[in-house]
Amino acid sequence: MSAENKQGLEAAVVQQQMSDPKSAVGIFELPCGFLAPEGDLITEVKIREITGVEEDMLAAKHIPGGKKITQLLANCLERLGPMTDKPMLVRCARDLLIGDRSFLMMAIRRVTLGDDFPFTKECPKCEKESLYRVNLGELEVRKMPDPKKRVYEDTLPSGKKARWHCMSGKEEEILNKAGPMDTLSISLLARLDSINGGPVILPMLKAMGMADREFLRERFDECEGGIDTTLQLTCPACGKEFEDQLDPGQTGFFFPSRILKRSNKSTSSF
Ligand SMILES: [Zn+2]
Repeated sequence: MSAENKQGLEAAVVQQQMSDPKSAVGIFELPCGFLAPEGDLITEVKIREITGVEEDMLAAKHIPGGKKITQLLANCLERLGPMTDKPMLVRCARDLLIGDRSFLMMAIRRVTLGDDFPFTKECPKCEKESLYRVNLGELEVRKMPDPKKRVYEDTLPSGKKARWHCMSGKEEEILNKAGPMDTLSISLLARLDSINGGPVILPMLKAMGMADREFLRERFDECEGGIDTTLQLTCPACGKEFEDQLDPGQTGFFFPSRILKRSNKSTSSF
């Protein structure tokens, strides 16, 4: 099957999903939760499916990715705990931790088109592009172990003391504008408040030893909740097993047919 046919199949699955009756709204429990200024933890959300308004917004090239996610979440959030006020929901969507934001993107995709997510991917070994399907309802959700604690202090393997906070949409929005950086440096810069009590700047992170960087990455994984987006795939053509990351921010996560319209094979991030 050619790549075009595969993508045609992917689009056909989504077309089918769009015509199937769906709940269109859903109630979910956030893995981390929104920490209200008074200290209450709010985990229950009601969301609705996306409409043409959000579809156009996702397609707009001038809005950076982090801001698009905030706006999409705010639009589709009908209720966060008892809160229904829209300007308030926009602020809350920005303050949500990235684990909750990814979880909500998955949840919105599920109420919009169902749990079945078809996508095409090129095999890293034989380079054949194949159609894969993942059930978004079966992705592992990791609850935040201590959801009211958002700031941590750790002693790194090098002996340095690091103070860091869990990453929210605020940092996601800022970092999107910062230009290309490697993912780990971004994740460190977004979270670290101080090292040995002093301010953190990018050259310090670049110079940081692997042991400290690994240690911090593991601590972020341990302390922050979220949804596991690692996919284990097996190439149907050659049998090669490989891992892939499901990125809910990628173009085509909601409407793969857009990829066809642009006749662009790659799923570039917005
Ligand atoms: Zn293969």
